[in-house]
Amino acid sequence: MRFLTQNKIRFWSIILFLGIIMLGWSSAHAEDALSSDLQENKKMPNVIIILADDLGIGDLSCYGAKVLQTPNLDKLAAEGLKFNRGYATSATCTPSRYALISGLYPIRNPNASILPGNSPLIIDVQKINLPRLFKKAGYQTAAVGKWHLGLADGHQDWNKEIKPGLNNIGFDYSFIMAATNDRTPTVYIENQHVVGLESEDPLQVSYKQNFPGEPTGRENPELLTKMKSSHGHADSVVNGVGRIGFQKGGVKARWRDEDMADIFSEKAKQFVTESTKNGKPFFLYFALHQPHVPRIPHERFVGKTPLGPRGDVIVELDDQVGRMVATLEELGQLENTLIVFSSDNGMVLNDGYIDMSVVKNNETGHAPSGILRGGKYSRHDGGMHVPFIVYWKGKIEPGVTDAIFCQVDFLSTFAALTGQDIPMNVDSENHLDALLGEKPVGRTELLLESSRRLSYRTDQWFFVNDNQKPELFDLSKDPSQKKNVAEEYPEVVQQFQERVKNILDKNLEKK
Ligand code: CA
Repeated sequence: MRFLTQNKIRFWSIILFLGIIMLGWSSAHAEDALSSDLQENKKMPNVIIILADDLGIGDLSCYGAKVLQTPNLDKLAAEGLKFNRGYATSATCTPSRYALISGLYPIRNPNASILPGNSPLIIDVQKINLPRLFKKAGYQTAAVGKWHLGLADGHQDWNKEIKPGLNNIGFDYSFIMAATNDRTPTVYIENQHVVGLESEDPLQVSYKQNFPGEPTGRENPELLTKMKSSHGHADSVVNGVGRIGFQKGGVKARWRDEDMADIFSEKAKQFVTESTKNGKPFFLYFALHQPHVPRIPHERFVGKTPLGPRGDVIVELDDQVGRMVATLEELGQLENTLIVFSSDNGMVLNDGYIDMSVVKNNETGHAPSGILRGGKYSRHDGGMHVPFIVYWKGKIEPGVTDAIFCQVDFLSTFAALTGQDIPMNVDSENHLDALLGEKPVGRTELLLESSRRLSYRTDQWFFVNDNQKPELFDLSKDPSQKKNVAEEYPEVVQQFQERVKNILDKNLEKK
C-alpha cells in the first residue's frame, strides 16, 4: 500500500514536473514567436514625436504661411495627414508637456505651471506615462531637446547625478536642457549628468538671488552683445544673452545657442542609428527649442527669411525635421516609423527680447496664428490650437482631417498602437483611428488651459470658463472667435460650466 502510494506520488511528481517544463517552454516559445513576429513583420513601428516650442499654426507654409517656406514639413504634410484641429492642452510649455508625457490634464497637478530651471520633477515616477508605455512594449526610448518638467527633488546638486530624472520615468536615454533656452542652467544634461562639467568649476543655480561677483544683464547691459532684453531676462548673462535665473560656474559646460539645433539633431541621429542597429523598435521624444526665445539660429540660417530671427529659427527647425527624415531613409527605417510633428503651444512674438519679431511681422503681414484668435498665454483658440502632422510612409493615406486630436491622447492612442491595455486612470483617450486617418472624428470634447484658467471646446463650440465673464464662440460660424455669444446661449454656457466641473471632479485615483 505504502509502496503504491510512493509510486503514485513519484508518478504524479514526474507528470507535474513535465507539465511545468512544457508550460514554461510553450510560454517562452509563444513570447519568442510574438516578439520575433513583431520584429520580422515590423508590426511595431518606431515612433518619433517632434515637438516645436511656441510655433503657431500659421508659421508653416503647409498651413498657409507665405513669407517663409518650410519645405521639409510641407513634404510630411503633403505625404501624410495634416490635422486642421490638432491641439496642445495648454497655452504654455510646462503644463502642455506635462499632459503629453503623463496623459493627464495639467489642471490635475498644482505644480504644472511654467517652472523655474531648478524645479523638482513633476512627473510621478510611480505612474504610467508615455515613455514607460513604450518601454513596456519593448521599445528603446529617448528624449532629446527641451524638457521643462523639473528634475530631481528641488535641491539639485548639478555636479552629481541629477535624479530622479528622465531615466527614472521610462527613458533609456536622455539628452536635454533642464528648462528653456532662456533659463538657467544653460547646459546640456545627458543621462542625468551635466555634459562637459569640470570638477574645479562647479555649477550652481539659483532663482532667488545672484551669486556674489557674477554679472547680470540688469547691472551689465554692455554684456548683452547678441540679444538685448525687452522685459525680464536680466539675470545671468551667457553667450551675450541675458537669462531668467542665476548661475555660477560650469563655464566650460555652457551652451552656445547657435549650436543647439545641430547638437540636438546629432544626438537624435545617434539614438535612432544605434537603436536600428540593436534591432528593437524605438520611441524618440524630440523636443526642439525653436522658435522659443532667445531666437539665435546657427550662422548659416541668419537672414534666410524676411521675418528676422523668429523666421530664421523656424527655417532651421524645418531643416532639423528634414535631417531626421533623411537619417531614417538612410537607415531604411522611414516606412517603419510613425512621425508626429506638433507644437507645445501657440505662437508669441515679443517674449522678452528685442528681436524685431513684431516689426518684421507687421512689415510682411505674416500671421503666425493663421486665422485663430490669440497665441501663447491666451485662453482663446490660438493658445493651444497648433500645427499637427502625422506621417508614416506607405501606411497613412495622404490627406487632411478635421478630427480633433490632442497631445494628451498620445498615451492611450500609442497604448492601442502597441497592443497594450488603455490606461484607465488618465484623461488620455484612444483615438488611433483618427491619428492614422482611418476615421474623420476624434475627440468630442477637450479641456484646455492657460495659466490655470480653463477653456473647453467641442466640435461646434469654444467656451472660456470664466465666472465673471464667460465667453462662448460658435466655431462653425466664427472660427476666429470675434463674437461672444454667451448671452444668446445661456443654456449652452450653463451646460459647459457643469461639464467642466464634472471633468474636474472626476476622481481618477478611483477609476
Ligand atoms: Ca512653449
